[in-house]
Amino acid sequence: MPARALNFGAGPSALPESVLRQAGEGLLNFQDTGIGIAEISHRSKEFKTYLQGVESDIRKLLKVPNSHAILFTQGGGSAQFSAVVLNMLARHHERYPALEPEQRVMDYVITGSWSDKATKEARRLGGGTVNVVADSRKFSAQGKFDNIPSHKNDAYKFSKNPVLIYYCANETVDGVEFAREEGNETSFPFHLLPEDSPLVGDYSSSFMSHPIPRLQNHAIIYAGVQKNLGPAGLTVLIVRKDCIVDVDKAAQNGAIPIPLCTAYRTLADHQSLYNTPPVLSIYISGLVLRQMMLEFGEDAMEKYAALSASKSAKVYDALKRGEQKGVFKSKVRNDSGSQMNVVFDVVGEGKLDQFIAGTEARNMKGLRGHRSVGGVRVSLYNAISESQVQTLVDYMIEFVEAES
Ligand code: PMP
Repeated sequence: MPARALNFGAGPSALPESVLRQAGEGLLNFQDTGIGIAEISHRSKEFKTYLQGVESDIRKLLKVPNSHAILFTQGGGSAQFSAVVLNMLARHHERYPALEPEQRVMDYVITGSWSDKATKEARRLGGGTVNVVADSRKFSAQGKFDNIPSHKNDAYKFSKNPVLIYYCANETVDGVEFAREEGNETSFPFHLLPEDSPLVGDYSSSFMSHPIPRLQNHAIIYAGVQKNLGPAGLTVLIVRKDCIVDVDKAAQNGAIPIPLCTAYRTLADHQSLYNTPPVLSIYISGLVLRQMMLEFGEDAMEKYAALSASKSAKVYDALKRGEQKGVFKSKVRNDSGSQMNVVFDVVGEGKLDQFIAGTEARNMKGLRGHRSVGGVRVSLYNAISESQVQTLVDYMIEFVEAES
């Protein structure tokens, strides 16, 4: 086998090697059943117990209160773009049966291509109207998704009694992220919301890499696991229990009928086993969670947050050095940069290809930016070690010195 590459890909992305080795054993023999994890019934007591363990680890690590259910489903973040709208519209119908669709307002904060897609899906589904709370392109000199609007700019216009308030914590393609510590000018403006706001957070690309600020104030948090936690297939939902509603009753009262598999009620009533779940993805995610617990205990999220801060600071420092010498150019405003995905340009004709070729020659992979934005994207999920980051940073500095 060739040496494993340093995989800086944006997702699916690197997983801890020790977990992959353990998973190899589980593929042949899951928990001494003599049956592999991809072969065993999802209704076997061994698997059901395992699933409960995964839920309990997520609950402990993210400190999820009992007011919220943890549900497992499939379809990734994209399916949740639709599911959150349908479930939250049903809830709104339950609470306010007599309103017209134009009175059912869905608030969207647009800071990048993923929240933009989510907004488009809400518009497409109908049943309510979309209010754009803030669009970061308006605060960009180039009209790009290159910033998180600052509270100081009076950028956020929330509506009264909305069906939901949507934001994406980390924009994986554009490389901008709401600041992780509350009260920062570019953190999510929680202070502008009433206590029981129906807040929905897409945490796909930073899930399990830091504590979620004000988790208890969210109606729904969701994430596909394929960045920090496991292989693609599993979507984790954290749903406040008042958002698990009788969707059929709501449909009788005029709400859009909801496909059974996307209704949170179905998932909750069947302990996330209404249909066959993505067993392999659940299994490997569970192994990663166990490893987090073993390594850092129940405060692992704080530890990973500190690691992410230090890894990304190293890359941003090298980027700054390159900017000073005219070799690199950040694609985002310097107070809005993501700790998970750092995106930048390499200045000059043919220089991007030269930079990427250099990474490949050093066995570093997955560094090309998303096709819609180009440039370089460095993804720094949990499985990327500090020494791997150092390898990349050494190369970035070597490149800068050679070019300037
Ligand atoms: N939201 C974010 C922030 C993402 O990064 C992604 C995928 N990279 C999605 C949503 C869509 O997820 P999926 O591909 O799992 O549907």
